[in-house]
Amino acid sequence: MIPALTIENLSKVYGNGFEALKGISMTVQQGDFYALLGPNGAGKSTTIGIICSLVSKTAGRVQVFDADIDEDFPAAKKYIGIVPQEFNFNMFEKVFDIVVNQGGYYGMPVELARERAEKYLRELGLWDKRDEASRNLSGGMKRRLMIARALVHEPRLLILDEPTAGVDIEMRRAMWDFLQKINAEGTTIILTTHYLEEAEALCRHIGIINQGEIVEDTSIRELLRRLHREVFILDSVEEV
Ligand code: ADP
Ligand code: MG
Repeated sequence: MIPALTIENLSKVYGNGFEALKGISMTVQQGDFYALLGPNGAGKSTTIGIICSLVSKTAGRVQVFDADIDEDFPAAKKYIGIVPQEFNFNMFEKVFDIVVNQGGYYGMPVELARERAEKYLRELGLWDKRDEASRNLSGGMKRRLMIARALVHEPRLLILDEPTAGVDIEMRRAMWDFLQKINAEGTTIILTTHYLEEAEALCRHIGIINQGEIVEDTSIRELLRRLHREVFILDSVEEV
């Protein structure tokens, strides 16, 4: 089966000469729930920006399912749903319209976009807010609105850039449940985070990125086994 995402030797040098990505490679299999974990400034948002063609790359290759982003961006775009780190919608537009208009961006018939908007706003607990201007929503609600908007065209790959940063623990749990549900229904998910706890609660595979390099790419189970072993070794050293 073809992977949902293949990245090969991806590098990014920003205009000021800063090397944000130093030739990273990673593969995410279809159906996976993958965490890209790393501290601030590691290169997570740069990676995601390149996958969505919001940021230009310096070198390397990115393929989403069967579509290379350079060769067939329209196909890649349809495969991906993106929840960016920063709120990027019109704060005066109504919640319902934001989701429906996103359907327009994907060339969906308006009736279908309206159906989907209702479905996802209901599932995300925002249906009551459909006629509110988005600026009246709380931070957690805005984040859920971005998820509804990302799902309107029912992408095969959902990418979320630090979706739970600044979200309280109760809302975070609800978002985790929702993401696990759509993953179980077949959507591949990639999420960036700087909480190991979040990666552990949700994901099957994890890539750890630091200073523009992937320093670890493994299953959560294997990573935890190794961490526990290291802690165990440290403990036994202290006892001696
Ligand atoms: P993360 O999302 O992991 O916090 P980013 O991908 O946003 O990291 O940033 C990686 C590095 O690239 C940081 O050091 C950041 O300051 C730098 N960077 C991001 N955007 C730009 C830009 N437009 N110009 C120059 N440097 C940038
Ligand atoms: Mg970021």
